[in-house]
Amino acid sequence: MRPIGAYCNLNRAAAMQAMDMCLNLAYSLASLTKRRRTKMQHTQSPIEIAVIGEGLAGSVAALALARAGRKVTLIAPVVERMDRRTTALMDQSIRFMDTLGLWNMLAPASAALSTMQILDGTKRLFRAPPAQFRAADLGLSAFGYNIPNATLSAVLADAISGESNIFRLDAQLERLDLSGNEVILTLSDGEIRTAAFVIGADGRSSKVREGAGITTRRWAYPQTAVVLNFSHEQPHGNVSTEFHTETGPFTQVPLPGSRSSLVWVVKPLEAERLIALPLEDLSREVEMRMQSMLGKVMVEEAPEAWPLSSLMSERFGKGPVALVGEAAHAFPPIGAQGLNLSLRDVMALTEVLKTEGGSAIAGDSGDRFHRNRRGDVMTRTFGVDLLNRSLLSEFLPMQVARAAGLHLLTAVGPLRNVLMREGIEPGRSLKELAASLRHPFHRKKAG
Ligand SMILES: Cc1cc2nc3c(=O)[nH]c(=O)nc-3n(C[C@H](O)[C@H](O)[C@H](O)COP(=O)(O)OP(=O)(O)OC[C@H]3O[C@@H](n4cnc5c(N)ncnc54)[C@H](O)[C@@H]3O)c2cc1C
Repeated sequence: MRPIGAYCNLNRAAAMQAMDMCLNLAYSLASLTKRRRTKMQHTQSPIEIAVIGEGLAGSVAALALARAGRKVTLIAPVVERMDRRTTALMDQSIRFMDTLGLWNMLAPASAALSTMQILDGTKRLFRAPPAQFRAADLGLSAFGYNIPNATLSAVLADAISGESNIFRLDAQLERLDLSGNEVILTLSDGEIRTAAFVIGADGRSSKVREGAGITTRRWAYPQTAVVLNFSHEQPHGNVSTEFHTETGPFTQVPLPGSRSSLVWVVKPLEAERLIALPLEDLSREVEMRMQSMLGKVMVEEAPEAWPLSSLMSERFGKGPVALVGEAAHAFPPIGAQGLNLSLRDVMALTEVLKTEGGSAIAGDSGDRFHRNRRGDVMTRTFGVDLLNRSLLSEFLPMQVARAAGLHLLTAVGPLRNVLMREGIEPGRSLKELAASLRHPFHRKKAG
């Protein structure tokens, strides 16, 4: 048997060891908590502007606002993109890309759109005359430029990584809650952040839109866009040709060299047939549709299919939230409107949010943005819808109206010029007209 003292010594030693362990544990816990608090304090400092989504619209929005002096947190998962589409950006959008310092990098991969022509490829009774629009008639060298999406994405990603006002979070938005003038963001990595302002650039199924309680109108078309790039024997001369067919437009758009991109709108079953064709057979079909205008055609890679539908948000902004790009509006790729409209969203939002002497963001910024964008977005969405439906319609008066409209445009020069100007910078020709009406008798004084 051990003497009691020995037990006491043993117990004392064990107790001291236990206390030591407790102290160590407490110290470790304290330092861990401190480390966690420091990290949380760092990561949970309120965001000034959160941009959700790094598609083309979100990337440009993040960059434009950072360049306007705001601190931007871009919340988007890192994804490998394989986008073979090209985007025709009009003169106003190109000038915007230039002010962001991006045009020099985009220009070498882009092709000028100097002439656009519309040819009626239908077999209908009332067919429209060929219509040609030349940028030179407006004193421009080009209406705009056609740029591969892969180049656009790469140039934007590069500019974002070099921008000190942009902080990137590799996560998805799981949930958005509005709390007074603040927005609470729950991210896929479990982080919860607050933001003074949130820009939803997270595409058609926007979580930002859902969290802000903004509803949408959606409608689908019985059409699919088959998208491909091809090389051709004859030079395109920077002419883009749009054939109007009974199933939708067939639009060739120039790329650098003897190459073009094509958006071919057909019925969904026909799209399936075209996509399954060997490239040689598909090339022959494209050449036939183009009436061999560009000589022999060689389709470069398997085409992509994009089912056509439209979406319009009931609001484009609300309190501390704004929606840009396809989160706000989406429609068929007819008349190169989608991204051009999204860039006008970004231009307007930059005007609303740009910092003046480090000012805080006003609580009604989203509402002001909504009022600013309503007219432009609605006009474009319904304009594209009407144009598309006028092609599909079997209703004779609609066909007559379309043919007569195009005839009027080809015959009346000033009307054609107004339409061309509206196509590249909406509202400008109307502003010029209003200005000329305000000063109708601007004459030089007699000497
Ligand atoms: C065939 C075709 C041809 C076109 N041609 C033209 C043209 O010539 N000219 C023109 O102006 N427009 C054109 N458009 C339209 C243009 O491509 C689109 O308007 C543009 O790409 C829209 O981009 P977006 O950034 O709004 O949406 P998206 O490209 O859908 O980007 C949304 C981004 O948000 C991310 N995201 C989604 N959910 C979350 C989340 N919860 N958290 C974080 N991130 C999220 C997605 O990963 C994605 O990166 C064309 C469209 C098509 C289909």
